[in-house]
Amino acid sequence: MNNLALPDDAVDALCRAIDARRDEMVELTRDLIRFPTINPPGEAYQPCAEFIGARMGRRGFAVEYVRAEGTPGDQARYPRINVIARRETGAAGPCVHFNGHIDVVQTGAGWTVDPFAGVIRDGKLFGRGACDMKGGLAAAIVAVETLIDSGLPLPGTLEISGTVDEESGGYGGVHYLAERGWFSPPRVDHVIIPEPLNVDRVCIGHRGVWWAEIETRGRIAHGSMPFLGDCAVRHMNAVLDRLEADLMPKLAARKTDMPVVPPGARHSTLNINSIHGGLEELRGGGLPSACVPDSCRMVIDRRLLIEEDLDGVKREVRELLDGLVRERAGFSYSMRDLFEVKPTMADRNGPVARKTAAAVRRVLGRDAEFICSPGTYDQKHIDRVGKLKDCIAYGPGILDLAHQPDEYVLIDDLVASAKVMAISAWSLLSGSA
Ligand SMILES: [Zn+2]
Repeated sequence: MNNLALPDDAVDALCRAIDARRDEMVELTRDLIRFPTINPPGEAYQPCAEFIGARMGRRGFAVEYVRAEGTPGDQARYPRINVIARRETGAAGPCVHFNGHIDVVQTGAGWTVDPFAGVIRDGKLFGRGACDMKGGLAAAIVAVETLIDSGLPLPGTLEISGTVDEESGGYGGVHYLAERGWFSPPRVDHVIIPEPLNVDRVCIGHRGVWWAEIETRGRIAHGSMPFLGDCAVRHMNAVLDRLEADLMPKLAARKTDMPVVPPGARHSTLNINSIHGGLEELRGGGLPSACVPDSCRMVIDRRLLIEEDLDGVKREVRELLDGLVRERAGFSYSMRDLFEVKPTMADRNGPVARKTAAAVRRVLGRDAEFICSPGTYDQKHIDRVGKLKDCIAYGPGILDLAHQPDEYVLIDDLVASAKVMAISAWSLLSGSA
């Protein structure tokens, strides 16, 4: 007997049935990769969603398509189409939902294979989205299908969704659906998001984010007589000095209880995403005009911990800037919020985390590591908007490969993760210990 309280022989049979579908899982991943669902702009969402919907429909799922009308980027040419497939068995039980985003980021430079061909080499399947996260979605689909075919008693409901725009914040995808009740109890009880966080790690949450633009202002003048103007770039330099000297050491000293990986991200962090000051440089050649910059803009990327609150995080930066207003002659600024997400963390002893970890132990023979992600993913919307806490990310694929050239997923990891997902879903549905 294992600590899943499921019969060992049935678990073994389920794993063998998934092994037998290895090639099918690879083909499904390749099929998904061949839809170039690049975001932005949101290419090929509809055919990809319909491909998933048609497959689940054939397996007796009720399939619905939800277009996120009016969300960023939604237009006739690039409709934000999400697919949700639901299978109720009739017997009373919880609903286990697998959610995968179908969008991928641009390919970028450096590929040695066609990013949308699904090339296989040395046990690896290459392609944009192989790891993040069409491999995970394919593994979840095959896990669910195998579970249904196993003939095991499955009370409750299974759901699979393919959602869009995760890579741009999830507003046309999980956020839109969560606002409309698609990710809330009693419709859904447990969610697994097969993001690529490594096959032996259970991800229970992520840090928060605040992006803001800070602008310092000056007075334009001829560059030969800077004393007649007031240089906005020098004012921004004072901001940078203050961030370096005062704020960054404070942030580095803050440590979270969240098990964030890598360990460097267990502290509050601040990145300077960009700075633009003065007149635009002439990219085509020629000499720039000689002016004192009257404006400088900087975008900051502050990542916050579950122990911090967003208002406090913003106040800290504002106080630093207000200090410069008092102390520095001619200093003035404005600050604008660009994007914000609160940190989120599920209970590692909650049903989905505990059962998935037990399934990892059963399949891989080693303990799962509980982690949190340094960046965010769609769990924030399920938690904060859907008010559903029992949500984790678990899936195949090596986190570091996401968004890289020659992104790949190990075929062995695809198979192992499908086993883990099938066992975990079965354990959740059957309400075992
Ligand atoms: Zn992803």
